[in-house]
This record gives sequence, structure tokens and C-alpha cells, in this order.
Amino acid sequence: MSSKLFRLLAFVALILCMTVSEGFAASQPMHKLNYFQTSTIQKDGQDVLLVEIGMNKDGLEYDVLVKPYMQNRLIINLQRTTPGKIDRDIPLKNDLAKRVKIQEVETGRTQISVDLAHAAVEGSSYNVYTLPEDRKAKKPYRLVIEVMSPASAVGGKVEGVKGHAIVLDPGHGGSDSGAVGPDGVTEKEVTLAVSKKVQALLQAGGARVIMTRETDRDVYGINATDTQELQARVNVALYAPESELFVSIHCNAFSNPAAHGMETYYYDGSYRGQRLAALLNEELAAEGGLFNRGVKTANFYVIKHTNVPASLIELGFITNYQEEHLLMDDAYQDKLALAVAKAIGRYFQE
Ligand SMILES: [Zn+2]
Repeated sequence: MSSKLFRLLAFVALILCMTVSEGFAASQPMHKLNYFQTSTIQKDGQDVLLVEIGMNKDGLEYDVLVKPYMQNRLIINLQRTTPGKIDRDIPLKNDLAKRVKIQEVETGRTQISVDLAHAAVEGSSYNVYTLPEDRKAKKPYRLVIEVMSPASAVGGKVEGVKGHAIVLDPGHGGSDSGAVGPDGVTEKEVTLAVSKKVQALLQAGGARVIMTRETDRDVYGINATDTQELQARVNVALYAPESELFVSIHCNAFSNPAAHGMETYYYDGSYRGQRLAALLNEELAAEGGLFNRGVKTANFYVIKHTNVPASLIELGFITNYQEEHLLMDDAYQDKLALAVAKAIGRYFQE
């Protein structure tokens, strides 16, 4: 074969190939939803809601997102999927989730939104995955949404908080990372994670929780002075006239990495602040087990300027390698959160 002819043939083959593969992709059948079922199962003694959404074939591509301004809504985008003939708006009679909506937001992209009864916390209040077809159970290939109570994930019941309103202040956030550990763990992420777990526990106990922040953000704004930022947090309590307590959550830091332990603070002269700080200290020592540096007084802005009994907690030293790793550990955070929530419960009861 002449090289000219060969090149021509190769070119034609290439064009054919491209046309065929494009045509193949476009004509590939969409996923079509054809199955919807909800059930409640028990996992580790806790109720878990299962939402199963089946379809005609496997290989689903999807992503899960929660918008920072709408934390109770779980959104799952299904690629190359049409809703088919299943119901589009399904109210749920369940304590964990209120409603499921299914809509085709653009041709071939279907969105499932689940309205939860609580804030969505990945891995601790929901899981999303797919399961293969189960012929025995007559279930097709399906997307599974597991919804559980974040409080039950933390694993604890808190008494004494019902009907009370508590302000939680996760220290730092946004442009202010707070202290940073030797392995790069930031104070702002630890304080937010622990605060959200406390929030879940208190809410499950029937309390109203007011958070100074629920995401990684500055409360005042990114170019604020320290005072503006701290006053913005105090204002959250001031503007919530029903608020009864203010708890600010921080991690300690020191130039010497050997410094370690937990401590709690109150503003000197506040008898109720002192009692709150003492209860927090007692519970954190019992649950967290770190060296107890005690209950102390300080002029920290947020405990000085709030109009309700207030305490500031230093959970541990993020600059201490061992404590940095504990503070980032999910199970350890659960313990700390339970300690804080229990102490708050005791404050109202004792
Ligand atoms: Zn701090």
C-alpha cells in the first residue's frame, strides 16, 4: 500500500471512529428511576431511616452536597438520569427526615433533595451509596440514602436541657484559623466539629441552640479587628433575648510543645459563670481524660461582654502533638461534646 493511500485510510478510519463513539455516548440510555422505598432499620441500637431509589441500570454517577445556608437539606445530583414515573414529592412521616423531592433540573440531570430534621453532618447524620440489584428482595440497582440522628451518632442522652436556649461559640473561623498544630490541624476546624456535636446533643435533648457560626466563616467579616469579630459573637447572644448561657469553645496553644491539658474559664465576679465553668471542667476531665489545668478566671472578651452566664473552654493544646491528634479524632470529639452537653444539662438541673 502506498503511504499516501494508507494515510487517507487511516484518516477515514479515525473520523469514523470519532463519529461512532460520539453517537454511542449520546444514544447511551439514561438511568431511569423506577423504584422508591423508605424503611427504618436499627444500627447500633439507633433508628436509621433508609431511602432507596432504584433505577433501570447500574453505573450511576452522582454527587452529594449541602449548601452552607441550608444545612438541613441534603442534595444529591444524579448525572444522566431522568426521574421516570416515580412520585416527585414525597412527604415522610419520620422523626429524621420530613420530605424527599425529585426533579429533573435540566435534561438528563436529576436532583434529589431530602429535608432532614437536623443539620446534615457527613458521615454522622447521613450516608449516601449505591447497592447492586437484589433479585431475592426484588430490588433493582439503587441509590441508598441513610439518615440518622447526629446525636445518636455521638452516642449519648443529655438530660436537663429541654426548653432552654444555649449559645455555642465555636472559636475562630474563616480568615482566622486560630492556633495550628504541628501536623497542620487548625483550631477553627476542631472547635466547629465539637460545637456541632454539642449542638446535635442539646437539640436532641430538646434545647434551642444558637450558634455564632455553623460553617467555616468569620462572624463579623474578613477584615474585622479582633474586637469587632468578638463583639459580633457576643451580639449573637444579645440579639437572642431568650438565650440563657454562652459557651465558647477553643483549643490552647503554646510555644513549648510539651504544654498540655484542658482548662475552663469564667469572668471574675460572675458566680453563675464560675459554676458553669466548674461543671464543664468536671465533665471534660471525666470524659476527655486530659491533664486538668483547672477552673480559672480571665478577661476574655466574649465571657466579659455577654449578658448571660458564660464560660470559655480550652479543650486541649493543639500545639501538643499528642493532643492535636486527639482533638482531630472523631470519637474523641464525641466524648468532649458529650461532656459539654452534660455539663450544660447539670447547670440547669442542679
Ligand atoms: Zn482560640
